[in-house]
Amino acid sequence: MSVFAIPFFYSKMPIIIQNIAVSLGGLRLHHTRKGKMFYKTKADIDRIVALKEDEISAWQLDKVKKIVAYAYHHVPFYRKRFDGIGFRPDDLRSWEDYRQLPFTTKNDLTEHETEIVSTRVKKSMCFPVYTTGTTGKPRPILTTRDAVVAHYAHFSKIIEMRGIDTDSRWVRFGGTKIVPEHQKKSPFWRYNYFEKQMYMSIRHISRKTVKDYIDALNRFRPVYINGFPSVLSVLAGWLCENNLRGPSSLRLIICDSESILPDQRKLIESAFSCKVLDYYGMAEKVVFMAQCEKGNYHVYPTYGAAEFISEDMKPVISGLGMIVGTTLVNNATPLIRYMTEDIARVTPSCECGMGGQPVSDIEGRMGDFVYTPSGKIISPTLMEFCMRNVRNAKKVMVEQDDIKMLTVHFYPDREFSQDEADDFVHVARELTDNEIEIRTVVHPEPPPKTIKYRFVLSRIARQSHWNKALGSNNPTH
Ligand SMILES: [Zn+2]
Repeated sequence: MSVFAIPFFYSKMPIIIQNIAVSLGGLRLHHTRKGKMFYKTKADIDRIVALKEDEISAWQLDKVKKIVAYAYHHVPFYRKRFDGIGFRPDDLRSWEDYRQLPFTTKNDLTEHETEIVSTRVKKSMCFPVYTTGTTGKPRPILTTRDAVVAHYAHFSKIIEMRGIDTDSRWVRFGGTKIVPEHQKKSPFWRYNYFEKQMYMSIRHISRKTVKDYIDALNRFRPVYINGFPSVLSVLAGWLCENNLRGPSSLRLIICDSESILPDQRKLIESAFSCKVLDYYGMAEKVVFMAQCEKGNYHVYPTYGAAEFISEDMKPVISGLGMIVGTTLVNNATPLIRYMTEDIARVTPSCECGMGGQPVSDIEGRMGDFVYTPSGKIISPTLMEFCMRNVRNAKKVMVEQDDIKMLTVHFYPDREFSQDEADDFVHVARELTDNEIEIRTVVHPEPPPKTIKYRFVLSRIARQSHWNKALGSNNPTH
């Protein structure tokens, strides 16, 4: 989510004026986020998560009924769709009834961009929040101010649960064009004084500039940092390589927007000497999950109603399932049974005692999985095992365009040897049961610049029930 709208003349301003502009934008955001609604939402979260399982379920069903009725009456897309199947809001009496409702897909968002928005909200009072992804076209999701506040309240809550005051100094690594693209010299960050935040541009991080970033972090002394795991692991790698330490003030790193790979987590935690807390949320605002102390993710019932659906469209109690959700926070685009295309590994229970269906891992997006001709699905987390002996590559990317062929791109460091590539292929062959031909390409040029790095990118048009439900053979593109 961007910090604020950047005026077109911003890049021409002196840095000090840019800092003031960022702070003023931040002040507006601060008032939005930290108003009455913010504290009310946080109190609601506390109250609801403390309830018993069946009480949470009843509370949530009531909320779901309300949002479904609201969508029926005020969202042309849903009115048409529900009328089409002869469904009236009064027909929704139980979770069983709810599970009969049709899914909403990413295609629906694109094809019905205006009809999927509520006619009840004042558009000028809402914000467009863009969905992220390297391959799919970002789609704007019209979002109410209250939904922005609700998101921020959940974000604050999970940090506070780790004993940290969210009013402390913090750093956000983000992709908002807050530092002009052409700027070659530090500072690649701006200050938002009212939020006690330093906003660091991820667009300017490179081998040349990384030391500037670390020095600035050490000067600023943040208590918590929030960013993408791929970006933070680049900084962590540089710290380790040069035997340096991050700021000693740091107590927590909060990762979001990408599934975090086990090696990335290990690297970040050891380089910065503090814990990583990962959470799952998205612009569509249908599901919010965050890690507990035991490392599992728990669904926050106050944000959205979540389901996990297997490839044969059954509820998952244990194993891989697609995350499907209904928003309880965003009235502007009230998505119902929205198929996120993100895959989670559901686990039957968690020792921490928190309610809600626990998830042991968020495995990535559908397009992040390698598929074999015999039907095996290999998650990016599993593919990460191929990296065990690859020590000298700046970046490795796995691409699958054909069910029988995998291309592995290596962007080597000076010390890189062919043995490392061979070892990768050896492990990948084991994982794919020798069903796929594996080709390696060693690139002399630096890795491509992307905002979000995806270790695995699969473009397989695979016939599956998920895909059928998504109404396309190739939903991720
Ligand atoms: Zn737990």
